[in-house]
Amino acid sequence: MSQATPDLYELYHFVNGEKVAGISGGRVGDVFNPSLGTKAAEVPLASQAEVESAITVAQAAFPAWSGMSVLARSRIMTKFVHLLYKHQHELGELVCKEHGKVIEDAMGSVLRGIEVAEFACGAPHAQKGEFSDNVATGIDIYSMRKPLGVVAGITPFNFPAMIPLWMAGMALVTGNTVVMKPSEKDPSCPLRIAELFHEAGGPAGVFNIVNGDKEAVDTLLNDERIKAVSFVGSTPIAQYVYETATANGKRCQAMGGAKNHMLIMPDADLEDVANALMGAAYGSAGERCMAISVGVCVGDEVADKLIAILKPRVEALRIGPSTETGLEMGALITKEHREKVINYIQMAEDEGSTLVVDGRDFVCERSKHGYFLGGSLIDNVKSDMTSYQEEIFGPVLQIMRVGSFEEGMSLASDHPYGNGTSIFTKSGSAARTYADKVEVGMVGINVPIPVPMAFYSFGGWKASAFGDHNQYGMEGLRFYTKVKTVTARWQEKGLDAEFSLPVLK
Ligand code: NAD
Repeated sequence: MSQATPDLYELYHFVNGEKVAGISGGRVGDVFNPSLGTKAAEVPLASQAEVESAITVAQAAFPAWSGMSVLARSRIMTKFVHLLYKHQHELGELVCKEHGKVIEDAMGSVLRGIEVAEFACGAPHAQKGEFSDNVATGIDIYSMRKPLGVVAGITPFNFPAMIPLWMAGMALVTGNTVVMKPSEKDPSCPLRIAELFHEAGGPAGVFNIVNGDKEAVDTLLNDERIKAVSFVGSTPIAQYVYETATANGKRCQAMGGAKNHMLIMPDADLEDVANALMGAAYGSAGERCMAISVGVCVGDEVADKLIAILKPRVEALRIGPSTETGLEMGALITKEHREKVINYIQMAEDEGSTLVVDGRDFVCERSKHGYFLGGSLIDNVKSDMTSYQEEIFGPVLQIMRVGSFEEGMSLASDHPYGNGTSIFTKSGSAARTYADKVEVGMVGINVPIPVPMAFYSFGGWKASAFGDHNQYGMEGLRFYTKVKTVTARWQEKGLDAEFSLPVLK
């Protein structure tokens, strides 16, 4: 494998159990170290032919992998989980290096991903079908969950360990083979994860990584050998992926962007709320699809008091390079994304909201070229503002003031996105009504970021998700398997001809 610049580390594809260089003279993408603000590597961007050859490999591996006993696959998954735990710090450091989030946060995301692979080890139980004996005299009926074939995963930049593991765990253990196209912005971690699966005994060709951009995605969407596409990323691309994949007859789940509201009731403990909001809004520099980006205060008194607590804390956020420990926030993914967030802050100001803390001028003295922003806190946000309607995906918390619980719940329900939301209150009745009625897929009650555990499933509503099945958990298992139902008669005496649809007796 050759690399143009000696200072840059090498990146590759991982196909058929081997590192595969991009084709000579092929297109490449830049991978940055966001903490330093420097280019770190060039990633090969796969051509249509390169993706097609990975699909060929995955298809060739399917019969043996799907034909293996479910227990044998689960044992490989268990070894994979052991290796993931063993290498968790290495994976966390890879996340930090190319994403820029702080190490404690990166480690948390690695562990949340491993939990999904751990759940997948239980496939021998979870994949069991149903059986009814003697549904008619001498007739039994049973169902089984069969793998689909070659499935594709397409992942975003913000969780380069966790989201590939959301998909790979359930897809692989149920007997599918995988071609994954991770974000071209931070591909090292998913590459390492696929290598570890191979080291755990996963046969060559079962879990393949092709790096790339739209050309690779379009190849996966259009190749008839791909039976299902799991996508996580921004809403416009999620919608495009969903529409193209389903038009081509594929099963598709496509998770999109978010704008997550926290409803803060007058009876909430505002110190608790502030603690929750600091992590939920500014952790990972707001680059989380479950980040709280809107705090909805019921009453001006709540808003004034909360802002008084938050303002000094936002100004004092500990921000710096991901090589340091004890920080609260790292860099943003790229210079361009940092500019995009800056533009949204300007837009919010131009639209008439109040900039309580402006993080745009923040400079990290220890790493002046890193893609850092300070935290921003914006008050008096109104529902018709574009900066409220759209996802900012940065360290920006917008505060809205409403007169009642109902008005606050309507904001979350009426927003185009519906990924996550939370309510902070001491009222069981308000909490229960909110959880029951709000038009959002994942709800936290006095929990700011309600990402479901591996044995539940992750998915938003409205423009935050397209398709019928959530990610991971039993929903993931359903997505990656199709049901076959067998009706069987074993009896000594012969059959009579029946011309009408039989009514079983
Ligand atoms: P993105 O949509 O830009 O990219 C996601 C994937 O799509 C990448 O692999 C990328 O290479 C590919 N892609 C980009 N443009 C494409 C195009 N024109 N055609 C085909 N493929 C294309 O998203 P991102 O910036 O990497 O990630 C951030 C977004 O992901 C945010 O909107 C965030 O809310 C969302 N996200 C959602 C969830 C969720 O579960 N709902 C989880 C994490 C992130």
